[in-house]
Amino acid sequence: MAVMASVPNRPMARETIEALDASRASRPMRLTVLGATGSVGKSTLDIVGRLPDRFEIIALTAQSNARALAALARQHRAKLAVIGDEACLGELREALSGTGIRSAAGAEALVEAAMMPADCVMAAIVGAAGLRPTFAAASCGVRVALANKECLVSAGHVFTSEIKRSGAELLPVDSEHSAAFQALAGADPESIEKIVLTASGGPFRTWTREALETATPEQALKHPNWSMGSKITIDSATLMNKGLELIEAFHLFPVSAEALDCVVHPQSVVHCLVSYVDGSVLAQLAAPDMRTPIAVALAWPKRMTAPTEKLDLTRLGSLTFEAPDETRFPALRVARAALKRGDTGPAVLNAANEIAVKAFLDRRLKFLDIAALVEETLETAERRGDICPASSLDDVLAVDGLARRLAEDGLSRY
Ligand code: NAD
Ligand code: MG
Repeated sequence: MAVMASVPNRPMARETIEALDASRASRPMRLTVLGATGSVGKSTLDIVGRLPDRFEIIALTAQSNARALAALARQHRAKLAVIGDEACLGELREALSGTGIRSAAGAEALVEAAMMPADCVMAAIVGAAGLRPTFAAASCGVRVALANKECLVSAGHVFTSEIKRSGAELLPVDSEHSAAFQALAGADPESIEKIVLTASGGPFRTWTREALETATPEQALKHPNWSMGSKITIDSATLMNKGLELIEAFHLFPVSAEALDCVVHPQSVVHCLVSYVDGSVLAQLAAPDMRTPIAVALAWPKRMTAPTEKLDLTRLGSLTFEAPDETRFPALRVARAALKRGDTGPAVLNAANEIAVKAFLDRRLKFLDIAALVEETLETAERRGDICPASSLDDVLAVDGLARRLAEDGLSRY
């Protein structure tokens, strides 16, 4: 069992919070956004743009959309703009010429951006590609607002150990984990009975298994409630997203894997429920808009205004809940098995899933075969003895690379 590096199990002393507040209040929060051009990145910068006096943008990064990155860097007067793909550096330089904003490209430059002196780094790169930069931010002892769930899934204990070593604060941005963080409110671990994450059920919630056989990327990309990047949208359709989130919650909160559960809640208004030993259940509710959990992570331990639509429960009328169907959505069962297996099992799960999702989007894999390929890759890795304890980020990255190759090989059989 792992514990959250930041709050519930290690509450900060009131004097520390007050001292931090006083120093933070006197100057804007220096913020870096990794993955600035993505869905979470743009939502973060939307909040920043509405309260420009509260924030100073240090570095912004993206993978290949140089034009969008340059526009954001100009708008928010960033000090540095970094593009992952080196072939896009010329375009970025040209778009920033005359602005005085520094530009750079490549994997090392992403790490440098993450390590620029800042108060908070929003980790919003998608996938294991975010591991090195997010880890670098954590090593600097800053506040890490974590959207990049794959980082916790793959690197788990290695990442939380680095957070503890450096004294960084880890604040969850994933809506369910932000909700749990709020509902836990520093609770004594002994008093927590269960943490239940909600899942919208995705676009295929009511589809038969037969219909799922022929589900297309276009159909899977139509999420009923949330507007998100394509990878997480496909993960929501398979329910792998909830599986990844159970693993994420395991590393964030002081509970065992058995005390973590999920329930399908199609309205996406209740984001998480925490059950206590006395029978109390605390839930967090909000409209399905990432700007609320982002604002929570940026402002904690205070609150700040967010432009999210206010909840009107009488207009909603009813909130419904149902058990997830692991026959139609086997990814949930596969992710649970990886969590139970431990060691680098979740890193294999994540890497294989990234390959499978991309293959599905490229029409090289059928929808139901996403979970099948991930399960097969886990079994192959186990048989070969590739799943092992990891003690460093390099260990995790080595297993990640291996699992990608196994999954690519497996693809030829579908
Ligand atoms: P997205 O695809 O919209 O954006 C991803 C960002 O990462 C972009 O800026 C892109 O340029 C950058 N990027 C992509 N590949 C990269 C690489 N190889 N190297 C460096 N940068 C790269 O994704 P998103 O929906 O914003 O999700 C980001 C993360 O947040 C994911 O881990 C996701 O699971 C998590 N998350 C997202 C939401 C949401 O509502 N979108 C909610 C909860 C959690
Ligand atoms: Mg989520």
